[in-house]
Amino acid sequence: MVRDTLARPLGSLRISVTDRCNLRCRYCMPEHDYIWLPRESILTFEETARLARVFVSLGVTKLRLTGGEPLLRHDLPTLTAMLAAIPEVQDLAMTTNGLLLAPQAGALRLAGLRRVTVSLDTLRPERMRELARSDRHADVVAGIRAARAAGFAPVKLNTVVIRGVNDDELADLVEFGRAEGGGAEVRFIEYMDVGGATGWSAAQVVSRREMLEGLARRYGAIEAVLGGDGAAPAERFRLSDGTTFGIIASTTAPFCRACDRSRLTADGTWFLCLYAAQGVDLREPLRSGASDGELAALITRSWIARTDRGAEERLSVAQRGALYQIDALRADPRREMHTRGG
Ligand code: SAM
Repeated sequence: MVRDTLARPLGSLRISVTDRCNLRCRYCMPEHDYIWLPRESILTFEETARLARVFVSLGVTKLRLTGGEPLLRHDLPTLTAMLAAIPEVQDLAMTTNGLLLAPQAGALRLAGLRRVTVSLDTLRPERMRELARSDRHADVVAGIRAARAAGFAPVKLNTVVIRGVNDDELADLVEFGRAEGGGAEVRFIEYMDVGGATGWSAAQVVSRREMLEGLARRYGAIEAVLGGDGAAPAERFRLSDGTTFGIIASTTAPFCRACDRSRLTADGTWFLCLYAAQGVDLREPLRSGASDGELAALITRSWIARTDRGAEERLSVAQRGALYQIDALRADPRREMHTRGG
């Protein structure tokens, strides 16, 4: 197993299949126009699957399809099947905004997708219009239900909590999960100052502590669910009636020490940290004839030198504001969360 300078294994790879998205969430893509990756730079399914096989040969066991919005990539079940066919892959998941999920959930399940996470920041359609510039809230809910019907159990729901925007909906979202009969579990994510979050400010971050205090006022004692995957970002909690939910405290209590994740952009740039300024270009060697062994050597060399603790380092920034302003994002779109894959 390949380990970095902090003994973190190369365990999990997030594969962004497109930088395009059909939402404009204010915490991720708040601008009106973007510089997109050139079409010819986007990896084909064969190229993506080949890189995935090389990563798996070095110890990766968990793959997650993401984007942008992964379901905007035509024929995603075909890529899913190619990845599911890699024998050592133990977990194959996808993060989606759910808009296009209902018609594809069954095909994705059949293709071998194991788990689905759907972003659901609000239960109020009018709020989604403001938060994500979309009036398709009903499609997201239909997507969640279709995923459950297709056998994804439970469907995880990601909610980015922003003060003054949706922090009054935490209990409603827990109730939504509960009403789905335990078939959906919400995970509240602290608002992060990732590239793309140009409107970020510390004042808008609702901390894990505040979330737990607010939910305890409503539900009484909340207990931590012990155990689970040490490298997984969400901490899970249980209400007295057994309902569970998660919190990803990536801003106030980052978990860099256990981070085994890296990210491959749709154009084949590999980022070893969500906050990293530079990535490793895998497309160029891939397209100029590198062997699997040469690609594996490049990946190994990069990983064993990895020192990144991006989220922890952000904690020590005195005047913390947005990571990048818009000009810096335009200069290199790979700095965007929607390009490197959430
Ligand atoms: N389009 C898909 C979706 O909406 O789930 C996948 C890509 S999206 C970038 C992946 C995840 O990143 C989402 O769950 C989203 O909530 C999260 N995310 C994006 N910007 C964030 C921010 N500033 N803080 C915390 N989470 C963020």
